Amino acid sequence: MSGHDPRRRIPRTDALLSDPEVRAAAEGISSQVLRRAIHRAQENARRAEIAPQEVTAAVIAELNAFSPSSLHPVLNATGVIIHTNLGRAPLSQAARAAVSAASGYVDVEMDLSTGARARRGAAARAALLEACPAAEDALIVNNGAAALVLATTALAGTSRVVISRGELVEIGAGFRLPDLITSTGARLYEVGTTNRSHLADYREALEAGAGCVLKVHPSNYWVSGFTSSVEVPALRRLCDEHQVPLLVDAGSGLLAPDPALSGEPDLSTALREGADLVIASGDKLLGGPQAGLLLGRASVIAQLAGHPLARAVRTDKLTLAALEATLTGETPPVISSLHYDAQALRRRTVRFVEQLAGSFPGSSAFSIETVPHDGRVGGGGGAGVPLPGWAVQLPEAAAAPLRQGHPAVLTRISGSHCLLDLRCVPESEDTVLVAAVQQALSLLAAQAAEGG
Ligand SMILES: *Cc1c(COP(=O)(O)O)cnc(C)c1O
Repeated sequence: MSGHDPRRRIPRTDALLSDPEVRAAAEGISSQVLRRAIHRAQENARRAEIAPQEVTAAVIAELNAFSPSSLHPVLNATGVIIHTNLGRAPLSQAARAAVSAASGYVDVEMDLSTGARARRGAAARAALLEACPAAEDALIVNNGAAALVLATTALAGTSRVVISRGELVEIGAGFRLPDLITSTGARLYEVGTTNRSHLADYREALEAGAGCVLKVHPSNYWVSGFTSSVEVPALRRLCDEHQVPLLVDAGSGLLAPDPALSGEPDLSTALREGADLVIASGDKLLGGPQAGLLLGRASVIAQLAGHPLARAVRTDKLTLAALEATLTGETPPVISSLHYDAQALRRRTVRFVEQLAGSFPGSSAFSIETVPHDGRVGGGGGAGVPLPGWAVQLPEAAAAPLRQGHPAVLTRISGSHCLLDLRCVPESEDTVLVAAVQQALSLLAAQAAEGG
């Protein structure tokens, strides 16, 4: 290296670490991330991609762009309420506040009045029982799949779980409930066919010897035509005859019947009709955090809680806090979105389109309309049930810039249009959303101008 080598002028690591502007930008960022940013900028200068005097600014720019979590909040304008790729249920304000409050040290397993150890999650369990009085007891685990594995493992052991061939569900991302159940050593006794199962099929299985009967709600598909299945009351009588427990995996987590989803099974009804145990997810139609809910007979819950696997699927304090607040706080967003009045949604959508047209002169270059659009429940319930509503219709090309914008906006592509359904977007975000659409359309207008 000659004495004139510009690389000698690259700021040294210790100089950058003590630079006041770098230190300000590094506030709240780990020293590892800071050192990585410094080394990257120095390396770029060594390769002459930036000048030595640009290194400090490069480090600061990288630190300013850094976000401690790479999960970005997005606006769900798809009209799909429980969107698996977008984190399923958004938490209520009460649940968000509870999560924040529970994130430090908390009395999750302590009775503060006596200082003695207390049952973990007692308040969340009590809230669940209050919301579903048909259950004698409840257990909360990590997610619905964990609840199912724990229940079948603890109740069937190495004997067989009787299940209809019409209820062998794949829940998504290639995960199949039958594989899940057999993964811990339980064995299946499949009965009936894809479209039809009869009580006699179940009887034959129980006479051959089985550990429990499992009824699974096909939450993400439906079979129509020449079909029949056996409902809970009939299964109850059969299970009584053979002294085996009856499990119902309801999936969606509706606590009581909902008129908006008449075909959807709910936990209270399944228990009243005779299920010993019902299983559901916390982040589907309950609108809470990811959790697996097990409700039913006290003796059955005790058996599950005492199984070694229960410790492996234990919920953390943040989940318990969010679940309790979901059950005791204001109506969660999932339920508001589900019950969104179609006329109210239409008025809001029309207003949105007017705002868009009024504040964006270039908008007349595009066709922007209010059109009818059915929302959907999405993952874990109401398969095939349309939720009548409305959407803003934009050119299809708007979808990509909206998805890549800040905030990211997820829309629905239908035909050759990009549809913006406001059902699941908090009304307080409308101004932000109008601005995001304006920006996306401006980008399209600029691209069109460039393209000639
Ligand atoms: C969603 C679902 C599950 C799995 O629950 P997770 O909370 O996703 O683990 C199991 N069974 C049924 C019927 C479901 O709908």
